[in-house]
Amino acid sequence: MATGTNKRDYYEVLGVSKTASADEIKKAYRKLALKYHPDRNKGNKEAEERFKEAAEAYAVLSDSQKRAQYDQFGHSLGGSGFQGFEGFEGAFQGFGDIFGDLFEDFFGTSAHRAGRARSGIRGSDLEYSVEISLEEVAHGKEVTVEFLRAEHCDSCRGSGAEPGSQPTICSDCGGHGEVRISQGFFTMRRTCPRCHGEGKQITKPCKNCHGNGRVQKNRKLNIKIPAGIEDGSQLKISGEGEAGERGGARGNLYVYVSVKPHAVFERAGRDLLLEAKIGIHQAALGTQIEVPTLNGKVRLKIPAGTQPGKVFRLKGKGFSDLRGYGVGDELVRVNVEIPEHLSAEEKKLLEEFGKLRDQGASGKSFFTRWQRE
Ligand SMILES: [Zn+2]
Ligand SMILES: [Zn+2]
Repeated sequence: MATGTNKRDYYEVLGVSKTASADEIKKAYRKLALKYHPDRNKGNKEAEERFKEAAEAYAVLSDSQKRAQYDQFGHSLGGSGFQGFEGFEGAFQGFGDIFGDLFEDFFGTSAHRAGRARSGIRGSDLEYSVEISLEEVAHGKEVTVEFLRAEHCDSCRGSGAEPGSQPTICSDCGGHGEVRISQGFFTMRRTCPRCHGEGKQITKPCKNCHGNGRVQKNRKLNIKIPAGIEDGSQLKISGEGEAGERGGARGNLYVYVSVKPHAVFERAGRDLLLEAKIGIHQAALGTQIEVPTLNGKVRLKIPAGTQPGKVFRLKGKGFSDLRGYGVGDELVRVNVEIPEHLSAEEKKLLEEFGKLRDQGASGKSFFTRWQRE
């Protein structure tokens, strides 16, 4: 059962070196397959032999395991060796990618697209963007979106055929949606060029949709944006995209939600962040300030001796968790403002204050570690 040893070396057949990469092997094979394809060499026995030879060489060298075996044992491998290679037709079965490429070269169409008669084409997905405020994020919002989308044509009910007329079975493919083409010793299937794979032909196109089966219509939709949604989130509204063609499923609508930057608030997950400025006297003496929240203003007590950067937490004043895991807080960071300009009287008072401080116990150095935020 040993394969004949008068065979040419596979590398030689493809004209590549023993160290050729998978890509080089594929390229070399494509070139030869195109050159010796029976279509271009009608009745040329030698071309046919070359074509088969190249196909066999490629079948082995493109399979890393077979290639390794071949590198080790050459053509002399008997028994289990290349018995899996069942002649030329069999060689084509595992050629998906390169065969697809060849199809394009020969017919200007891809083998991948060829298929049985399709029952319909799914409608396109649509995208819509909405922008909401941070307050709306906090409370959730219902928005009305309005857009044009392809809908089934009422006149022909999506068939594309003028009412009263019926689509006929495609005369080229007999309704199969694909045609067989004989290329010498093997047969290929390709999508029927007349009906584009649908298996039907419209002889009288619908006047309303010009045979397309669909028309553009306005669609208005209320969409609930859940409280706590993150900026840049996408809501998928199933089945609200364009209508399919010839009975195909509807596409989906994707609503992208972006959140407008807020004048004073920042967001950090479920928490709301706010910076508040107070004067040195307020920080030292303590005070109460009014703080905005997403639900109006609240009073915040600043205790005497509050240091710059101190963070106060307003429990439950943040965003509700989208998955229902509670509510975040509002974090208020207090910054103490040092006055840049002082009136004469203020200056005098501060100098007096300074003298009192120097007389007290706090005249020591006050170096501490750098505080990283
Ligand atoms: Zn129509
Ligand atoms: Zn057809």
